[in-house]
Amino acid sequence: MSHGKHKQYVVGVDLGGTKILSAVFDRNLRVLGREKKNTRPELGVDGVIERVAECVNEALASAAVPHTAIAAVGVGVPGMVNQARGVVRIAPNLDWHDLPLVKLLERQLHLPAALINDVQAGTLGVKHLGSGRKLQNFVCMFIGTGIGGGIVLNSELYRGAGGMSGEIGHMVVVPEGGPKCGCGNRGCLESVASRGAIVRRVVTAIEKGRKSLVWDLCDGDTSRVRSRILAEAYREGDKLVRRIIDDACKYIGIGAANLINVINPQAVILGGGLIEALGKQMLPRIRKSAMAHVIGASPERVKIVDSGLGDDANIIGAALVARAMVETRRR
Ligand SMILES: [Zn+2]
Repeated sequence: MSHGKHKQYVVGVDLGGTKILSAVFDRNLRVLGREKKNTRPELGVDGVIERVAECVNEALASAAVPHTAIAAVGVGVPGMVNQARGVVRIAPNLDWHDLPLVKLLERQLHLPAALINDVQAGTLGVKHLGSGRKLQNFVCMFIGTGIGGGIVLNSELYRGAGGMSGEIGHMVVVPEGGPKCGCGNRGCLESVASRGAIVRRVVTAIEKGRKSLVWDLCDGDTSRVRSRILAEAYREGDKLVRRIIDDACKYIGIGAANLINVINPQAVILGGGLIEALGKQMLPRIRKSAMAHVIGASPERVKIVDSGLGDDANIIGAALVARAMVETRRR
């Protein structure tokens, strides 16, 4: 057995602004073990990299796979990355600029590492193992802290002229008087329909005295409000949460309709934490809104589905990048 073949497993990491997910994958991309940690970006670069390494090592322990059996680690990062150089150019949620992440990770982990943008990782995951498996042309919308997207054309991830494609969170859906977006513009889809925007609207209303179950569910600490709490309040019929999330669904539907009108994909595939927690309630509302804005709308033309991967889309894509790097080096 050659040295290379002996190392048959890869690790996929989803390094987000709030949490780190890691999982060990076998040759068939089955998860053998996983781990989750808070990112704690306030610890700085070294602190975060140490936490990534701990998260990887604990996933290995839970999979009962030795370090020596790992061929490579792939990491999805929320920001602009230079994949070939292994450098994170800008990651606003982590406050990283021109960081040679691959070099730093390889030093910490003693394993080859590869980088990818988190949304591109998620799109690759959907293409290989999710509901994009049998499709050649589709668009992914990931609803999380922000809203990211990935476009697959003729079975390839469409990266755009400068690698900047898929910024669907910054489609303008409220041209006048919309809320300010993190990008500096107003009325972007992300500013009205991301989990971050939904949480901001709910919290602002509570602070103004509106009654909501969210207040009890977070024990009065609104900094703890995440998808799970929103989902619980929604299912319990909380009026405030229902109004704000239904409003978000309307805008996500408008965004999906714009994409359908421009690209004519086989499907628009939704993922991310909020969809995982509330997909059953949100998808019909998103479809209804999209149907009202698509030219020649029909159920066939307006296919809007769940990714089928829950929280795992990004780690699967990161594992695919690790595997692709190993295969390139073996050739
Ligand atoms: Zn924006």
